[in-house]
Amino acid sequence: MKGFKGRIDTLQERLKKLREEEHLFYNREIQEHDNQFVVIGGKRYLNFTTYSYIGLLGHPRINKAAKDAIDKFGSGTHGVRILAGTTSAHVSLENTIAKYKRTEAAVVFSSGYVTNLTTISSLCGRGDAVFCDMINHASIVDGCLLSSAKFVRFKHSDMADLRKKLEETEAVGRVIVVDAVFSMDGDIAPLPEIIELAKEFGALVYVDEAHSTGVLGKTGEGIMEYFGLTEGVDILMGTLSKTIPAAGGYVAAKKEIIDWLKHQSRAYVFSAALPPGATAAAEESFKVMKEEQWRITKLRENYQYYIKTLKEAGFDTGPSETAIVPIILGDEWRTCEATRQLFENGIFIMPILSPAVPPNTNRLRANVTSWHTKEDIDFMVNTLSDVWKNMGIKPGSE
Ligand code: PMP
Repeated sequence: MKGFKGRIDTLQERLKKLREEEHLFYNREIQEHDNQFVVIGGKRYLNFTTYSYIGLLGHPRINKAAKDAIDKFGSGTHGVRILAGTTSAHVSLENTIAKYKRTEAAVVFSSGYVTNLTTISSLCGRGDAVFCDMINHASIVDGCLLSSAKFVRFKHSDMADLRKKLEETEAVGRVIVVDAVFSMDGDIAPLPEIIELAKEFGALVYVDEAHSTGVLGKTGEGIMEYFGLTEGVDILMGTLSKTIPAAGGYVAAKKEIIDWLKHQSRAYVFSAALPPGATAAAEESFKVMKEEQWRITKLRENYQYYIKTLKEAGFDTGPSETAIVPIILGDEWRTCEATRQLFENGIFIMPILSPAVPPNTNRLRANVTSWHTKEDIDFMVNTLSDVWKNMGIKPGSE
């Protein structure tokens, strides 16, 4: 056992080694955003590390909504939602989300992470079981761990394994939780099959739409639209920090579930309300997303083109079929070195390293957006090919 001091020292040694190799990329200070570009250290870079999938960050209408709400309500609130923290901006946003997600009601929390944590842990209790895809987001895992329910993990998108686990697990209440779009690999959960199993075993279905709102479905409504479904999911959770360029998270569901969360979930009862600026910005974003449909079409064209171009150049993009595109390079040192050289060539992209992903699947994780042009994408893929060749490795040769 290393103990607290030992763990801190181990991290310091790792950071020192990465710094010496010029492979420490995290926590970079961004001085300016400009659509698909960022300014870092006074230099402009093409950004493949943003979650603003349909380019709404900085949208004038959304900025104005935030400023107006600050003028009206101030920069903060009078505290927690259940006491004096609920403003008409919150009520209006929740109504808009419920309408958008076609549910009876909705509730917002101060972050997406907190939303999963508090919702799962307050819905699932002793005697229940929560069935969690093996590669679900950390906030889902933490929510499961925090609840007193049995925590059952099933193999990634493996319906035979989910069935087996449902069959062998005794529980009072059951919930199946999945990411709609998995945040490391960009693949889509097999929702129709999950709903079938849930019906058979009397389970609720909980879906995290962090990376599917604005991305999946003809009009960007998300995973339900993508599969042409109108029912079968009990809890649609999402973030207000990706496609929606604000902060916060939401749950859209039946009124009785929302009532429960508004009276029993600890993040609602014990943590201050989402600031009015972010709340109003989020609401305006849902409106803009509906009106400016070209953004969703452009995003779809872009990720299809991006994945195709990377594959043609010999890169492994895993199972991605969305705007999250992993470029799996394998070895940690070479993944970091490729990142460094891309940065030297004007491209801002981040490596995702084990243990965040399985060993030897170290990767660059690129998020493509509706801002990117075909030329941007070609530039990225050509530069990466050159970098990879300079490192003595032919794409596709490993
Ligand atoms: N769920 C998923 C699938 C995510 O990828 C993230 C953030 N990366 C979250 C939840 C947490 O959202 P937030 O960043 O808004 O806290």
